[in-house]
Amino acid sequence: VNHYLQNIQTKAHLNAFVEVYAQSALEQAEKIDEKIAKGKAGKLAGMVIGIKDVLNLEGHESNASSKILKGYISQFTTTAIQRLIQEDAIVIGRLNCDEFGMGSSNENSAHGKVLNALDEERVPGGSSGGSAVAVQANLCTVSLGTDTGGSVRQPAAFTGIVGMKPTYSRVSRWGLIAYASSFDTIGIFSNTVKDNALVMEVMAGHDEHDSTSSRKPVIHYSKLLHFEKKAKVAYIKETIDSPALQLEIKANTMAVLDRLKEEGHEVSAVEFPLLKYTLPTYYILTTAEASSNLSRFDGVKYGYRSPNAHNLESMYKKTRSEGFGEEVKRRIMLGTFVLSASYYDAYFTKAQKVRRLIKEYTENLLDEFDYIIMPTTPSTAFKFGEHSGDPVAMYLEDLFTVQASVSGVPAISIPNGKDQSGMPIGLQIMANSFKEAELYAFSNYLT
Ligand code: GLN
Repeated sequence: VNHYLQNIQTKAHLNAFVEVYAQSALEQAEKIDEKIAKGKAGKLAGMVIGIKDVLNLEGHESNASSKILKGYISQFTTTAIQRLIQEDAIVIGRLNCDEFGMGSSNENSAHGKVLNALDEERVPGGSSGGSAVAVQANLCTVSLGTDTGGSVRQPAAFTGIVGMKPTYSRVSRWGLIAYASSFDTIGIFSNTVKDNALVMEVMAGHDEHDSTSSRKPVIHYSKLLHFEKKAKVAYIKETIDSPALQLEIKANTMAVLDRLKEEGHEVSAVEFPLLKYTLPTYYILTTAEASSNLSRFDGVKYGYRSPNAHNLESMYKKTRSEGFGEEVKRRIMLGTFVLSASYYDAYFTKAQKVRRLIKEYTENLLDEFDYIIMPTTPSTAFKFGEHSGDPVAMYLEDLFTVQASVSGVPAISIPNGKDQSGMPIGLQIMANSFKEAELYAFSNYLT
């Protein structure tokens, strides 16, 4: 803990942490030392974790990096975090992110931007940028992020680490401040596949507080990392041939596929004609869900209340106008529009149907093949300000990550070399629902 506290201090300018729980982390460490001496320590003893600022921890502030939640103190602890604490993980602090998880560069935070530790003029990715940089810059052992459309995988790719999004419903969402409830997952950043698997097996599993959490038993992913079978791997032509794809990313992705072939695995090119519909489907459905989820922030119960209001109506209006950032407002308006009576069928209902098609197509592919491989992102980490004036350019960053989110299947990003400017490249691997063990073992084989 002292080692990490020291690093957090020397690298404070990266702006990854928005709050450090120095005292409670040190106290916890002492208790765990005693447990270790008695041979009674939990399986995560010694692991120091950081948590994204959208996860509640009792007695601590949690803002979703939004002004509207300023001063809000959590009344309970996120189930996933509680399970890690029970196994003696130490929570060292709260990590910066895009407001309510909306963004791909961590430039939309009320706490300011987070710097990529490899090149401080570049973004760390988003929305879980602080969580990614905390692991990248050695400020904690692992960190929790959330992945609704790529927010763990994309920043993991941009910072050169491992980022895992589990199957939707594998990890309880109790305690996670909702962005889009039918997409939200809690994911993990780590330096190694093994650490990631170990944390996942502790935090996954049914939770009576989240009725959507799966009752399927959790297996010991970290003990199943040995991979010796011959895999059937597919890659999607439309991703590799995408004009948006940076050439070095294409080359490194193809190199992995060639290596797999050489090592006796079956590698096939497949088509995914629905690729062009994944982003529109994602942005219609997530903005709709967000506009509904965020209606609770009205100045009455949580965080910020405008001091400039003179009656109830103006309190709602002013609180929301002053409290939400620009991107969040854009999405509330988009979501309200697609849910409005005259457009509901044309947008929301249509997108639900397309979601079903994408999910079925993806699951069918994953019945036929063990894994789908593709780049995590079309480009490596870009410079600050490069996309911030153009929301559509920013949304295009999620081109390859949203397929797994729309389908609910698990996906991981692992490091796959660097581009000419030295920025890391991510390789994304998808497997069918609840095949986390297979995904971890294959990732372990590839790294
Ligand atoms: N960039 C995507 C978005 O802004 C993903 C966000 C996320 O996964 N939380 O919606």
